[in-house]
Amino acid sequence: MTSATRVLVLNSGSSSVKYQLLDMRDASRLAVGLVERIGEQTSRLKHTCLGTGESREQSGPIADHDAALKAVAGELARDGLGLDSPELAAIGHRVVHGGMFFTEPTVIDQAVLTEIERLIPVAPLHNPANLTGIRTAMALRPDLPQVAVFDTAFHTTMPESAARYAIDPRIADRYRIRRYGFHGTSHAYVARETARLLGKDPADTNVIVLHLGNGASASAVRGGRCVETSMGMTPLEGLVMGTRSGDLDPAVIFHLARVGDMSMDEIDTLLNKRSGLFGLCGDNDMREIRRRIDEGDEEAALAFDIYIHRLKKYIGAYYAVLGRVDAVAFTAGVGENAAPVRQAAVAGLDGLGLAVDGGLNAVRGGEARLISPASARVAVAVVPTDEELEIATQTYELVGNRS
Ligand code: AMP
Repeated sequence: MTSATRVLVLNSGSSSVKYQLLDMRDASRLAVGLVERIGEQTSRLKHTCLGTGESREQSGPIADHDAALKAVAGELARDGLGLDSPELAAIGHRVVHGGMFFTEPTVIDQAVLTEIERLIPVAPLHNPANLTGIRTAMALRPDLPQVAVFDTAFHTTMPESAARYAIDPRIADRYRIRRYGFHGTSHAYVARETARLLGKDPADTNVIVLHLGNGASASAVRGGRCVETSMGMTPLEGLVMGTRSGDLDPAVIFHLARVGDMSMDEIDTLLNKRSGLFGLCGDNDMREIRRRIDEGDEEAALAFDIYIHRLKKYIGAYYAVLGRVDAVAFTAGVGENAAPVRQAAVAGLDGLGLAVDGGLNAVRGGEARLISPASARVAVAVVPTDEELEIATQTYELVGNRS
């Protein structure tokens, strides 16, 4: 085992880098921060050192990811947490798409970089930004293990019956068309934490995880392994999301192209950025939608009903996939905070052994907790997700095992 116990987690987007430095002895946060609007004149770095409680902000142009990471390194160094510290064991990178190839967290070398690059056609928005972050960090600390933790990895245990679309397999294989699933780091973490909350062994616990954030996905987890998830080849499939449509008859796309005279790019933007809750009612924030509903807004009420209807269909479907369900776990921004969503999603499912206790559901808090009545056959839980901790844990386990 290495004596270095710190892990830096980097989540690099196209114009942002989020980071957290953790000490894996007790999984505590040492520093957290965010660089936004990279490449613009109005870039901003917000850094907080948890030890001192001090927060600092820099604004002004940060040209690229290299400059962003150097600025982050500078902030960490000011707090005595520099990237040159011998206590830094590894850097863990979030990588959105690992295809079928990456089933586990992986120490990054040239071959791994090449494979992540080969996956760009199926993840054109995410993988290039993830790669830029990795390359920049590798240039900064070439001697340090850098680990890729893939959003898709947890879902690679799905059986072929769930992962394949019903199209000619030769065409599917040629273009790598299959259901990969996303948010896997969150689903893995939440499924395990739910088992812990129930006092059960994860290997003997079946959980339906509902990750409801701006992006949203459901998964069916049997004994700690994912057997089905709602996002597909891309994060567009499945639940109604903040701005994505989720499930749709594919013929809608032909119709929009032929009859609506829209280009493929326009349809792509429509379905990914201008649909879902936002497309239905002009708001994608559940707080605002609930406020409008309370004021009697019918458009917001219908958007909410469509969102809940889809969610309920998935709970029912995943109940059937699993056969036996121990718990349904709500997580992410909406799942953790929006009591009316949890209440409505489970309403009327008593026949499946599912119910929510109104009092428990109304309690707010950052801890994992049960919201079902004690008598319920199936537990309903709120389990805050922690993707950074999961990335750090997987990274540290891998690096620790290698030394
Ligand atoms: P995430 O993508 O997990 O960060 O979730 C972001 C979403 O969570 C926002 O767009 C809101 O819709 C939702 N959200 C955050 N806080 C609340 C809250 N207190 N009540 C209802 N929804 C919330």
